Amino acid sequence: MFDESKCDLCGDCLTLCPYVDYERDEAIEQFQSLIEGGTPRIVSECITCVACNQFCEKGAGPFDLILERQERTGVLNIPEQNTQLFRNFPNAPSRVIPGDADGPALSLCSVGELLPGLFDGPLFKGMTVLKGGDYFCGVGWVHLGQEAPLRENAPGVIANLAASNANEIVFYHDDCYALMASIAPDYGIEVPFQPVHIIEYLLRRAKEQAAVKPLGIKVAYQQPCASRYTPWKDAQLDELFSLIGVERVDRDYDRASALCCGSPLMPRDRKRAMEVKERNISDAVAAGAQGMAYLCPLCVLNLRKVAESSGLENYHLIELVDRALYE
Ligand code: SF4
Ligand code: SF4
Repeated sequence: MFDESKCDLCGDCLTLCPYVDYERDEAIEQFQSLIEGGTPRIVSECITCVACNQFCEKGAGPFDLILERQERTGVLNIPEQNTQLFRNFPNAPSRVIPGDADGPALSLCSVGELLPGLFDGPLFKGMTVLKGGDYFCGVGWVHLGQEAPLRENAPGVIANLAASNANEIVFYHDDCYALMASIAPDYGIEVPFQPVHIIEYLLRRAKEQAAVKPLGIKVAYQQPCASRYTPWKDAQLDELFSLIGVERVDRDYDRASALCCGSPLMPRDRKRAMEVKERNISDAVAAGAQGMAYLCPLCVLNLRKVAESSGLENYHLIELVDRALYE
């Protein structure tokens, strides 16, 4: 939630936004208007990447204010079919695959089937798996300019996960981890299990493994937007890449300066989405990457063709760890 008491109207949030080009005076003017209840053009120009919450060093949460205004005005004009898709996610069939009751469970949200075969290897053998509509986190609603459905859905999904009786739950979807580790606590909702991010889980497994085959490849990392809610994982990712012998190339659009994969823009403005994708992939190529390394399956689906056509391989982080540990 936006905290006006922390905002000193410095304008950093909007001058650093990688999708608009505002001088500082204009950024300050727009943010002042937002605080006063207006709807300046940033509200419709914003692509909902959440980055400005991270840019704001005072912790005011500027994106939360932009989101509130998007929701109140409906200015993003999201097509009804996209909104309906999100409304239907919680109704999708759910499944619990029972596994080791003493170990961590694995939650796949509603996105576990998007990249077939990703969980078939030894990394996840014997785990209890939770997947489908009952475990849909709803964080993606922010990309439709809506926060209320996320807030309404949160207690139910946390209760469904808690019903697994697992002490630890590993979250494949970055959005789910953002809900458990950052958003739910902000809402004052108790999370009665330990959320573990998939990067943290993979890092544990890599550290346990006696022999790791260094992969010797250079990748450009595609950070999901939801990572803005839980940026502390980035140090774990660096450690993981180092353990499996993968070089994360130093590029313009990584870490705090990462670009969105473009998927939130697709329903609203495909041309602008393609510009963002091409900017991102060109940057990866210029930095000497051999491939893109992804965490979010939606980033894979949105960027893989553009990456391929630029001569880059596409790797999911799980595939890389699988290869380094077990091939
Ligand atoms: S929200 Fe943060 S970054 Fe934006 S103007 Fe206020 S203090 Fe500055
Ligand atoms: S959420 Fe992203 S696109 Fe929107 S204003 Fe903030 S940095 Fe810019």
